[in-house]
Amino acid sequence: MSGEERERDPERENAPAAMEAIRSLRETFWENPEAGHFRKNEGIVDPDEAEKRLQRFAPLLKKAFPETGNGVIESPLLEIPRMQAALKGRYAALSGAGKLPARLYLKCDHALPAAGSVKARGGIYEVLKFAEEVALREGLFAEVENTEKLLSEEARKVFSRYRVAVGSTGNLGLSIGIMSAVLGFSVTVHMSSDAREWKKKLLREKGVLVKEYAGDYQSAVASGRREAGADPFCHFVDDENSLDLFAGYATAGKRISRQLAEKGVRVDARHRLYVTIPCGVGGAPGGITYGLREIFGGDVFCFTAEPVHAPALIAGLASGKGSAVSIKELGIDGITAADGLAVGRPSPLVCRAMRNRLHGCFTVEDEKLFALLALLWETEGIFVEPSAAAGFAGLGYLERGSFPPPDGSSSAVVWATGGSFVPEEEREAYLARGKDALSRLKTE
Ligand SMILES: *Cc1c(COP(=O)(O)O)cnc(C)c1O
Repeated sequence: MSGEERERDPERENAPAAMEAIRSLRETFWENPEAGHFRKNEGIVDPDEAEKRLQRFAPLLKKAFPETGNGVIESPLLEIPRMQAALKGRYAALSGAGKLPARLYLKCDHALPAAGSVKARGGIYEVLKFAEEVALREGLFAEVENTEKLLSEEARKVFSRYRVAVGSTGNLGLSIGIMSAVLGFSVTVHMSSDAREWKKKLLREKGVLVKEYAGDYQSAVASGRREAGADPFCHFVDDENSLDLFAGYATAGKRISRQLAEKGVRVDARHRLYVTIPCGVGGAPGGITYGLREIFGGDVFCFTAEPVHAPALIAGLASGKGSAVSIKELGIDGITAADGLAVGRPSPLVCRAMRNRLHGCFTVEDEKLFALLALLWETEGIFVEPSAAAGFAGLGYLERGSFPPPDGSSSAVVWATGGSFVPEEEREAYLARGKDALSRLKTE
């Protein structure tokens, strides 16, 4: 779509064109005409309160996950100049053929400790908050105490009377399952049939009850919700509606602002920040966008990336129908190699929160995800899973909106969301498929 067309009236022109592309499984970009109307302080969650709770729990997390060093579950922010050069040059087709003038960074949530994906941000936070509630209610612990105490035998005994349940395509299950098992909760993960075998195995090894469903992600969630609803001692982690998950994701805003400052990267009206984030139901990218907008206001521009076969959030926002949209009703199958992104409906909470916060959404073909993950491996030696490579595919769109485009003073962050827990064999298979896709690109 040309810039000229969009300038005429984005609201009218853009949405029907995007819906048409979505239905025909073509890659597309939708620009949110309401993103300019964002105001700070229309609060939905308080990321600072969530951050304070995470700080309180740092001693516990340090003991449970020594690999964090200091009990803070955080990932590096890396500049990736070799990947940028490849995306500007020979492999421009993979980034939407933009000029890519901004400095390019990778937010390495694929390497987040404890759960190996972005789900560690929201999932671990929600389980800790629940544990704190139970501990206070049961008189295990006074608010000012060292949280490490909640790893004691006495605490475990109390927690074992409580249950945690979640419906998941995989990564959320890992994050909730691992944290709940550490504390001694009895935990059930309701998995959709497309979830990877190794994720189910890893959870079972940790003592998690994994229930599998023949249907898709939404039916796994619905069963989990039903089962948990009948049990007053059960906490159901609701991926589609949870404010706690959302608040946990939103802490990423302040965390990355500190990392950018440490690198001497400025973000202000003349040094804009652009961020692309893979999206399933929208909780992770929505929460991150929320946190970033709280910090950087109008100087940050956030975008979501979805597979062409599972365009849930873009369909919800572009159609204006939010979570009433189901991709099945649009004739789309939801089948994609991008774990975690294979969902049929966006979260109602996220649709509301993103209305004036998100600048746009784009979709990407699966084959490109593989090519991108192989390219990232070849250029930077970093391995991510297919869904986590989605953010690269939309960099070119950033230059084609009615918002100010990135320039030499801007920074762009591609949010990598999963991969460090992927077993060696699967890695090899992903990389082989990716190399194949790359070589086809070269010869085309
Ligand atoms: C879950 C997930 C996402 C998206 O998160 P949502 O909250 O479902 O939007 C992105 N990437 C990976 C690897 C995930 O597991």
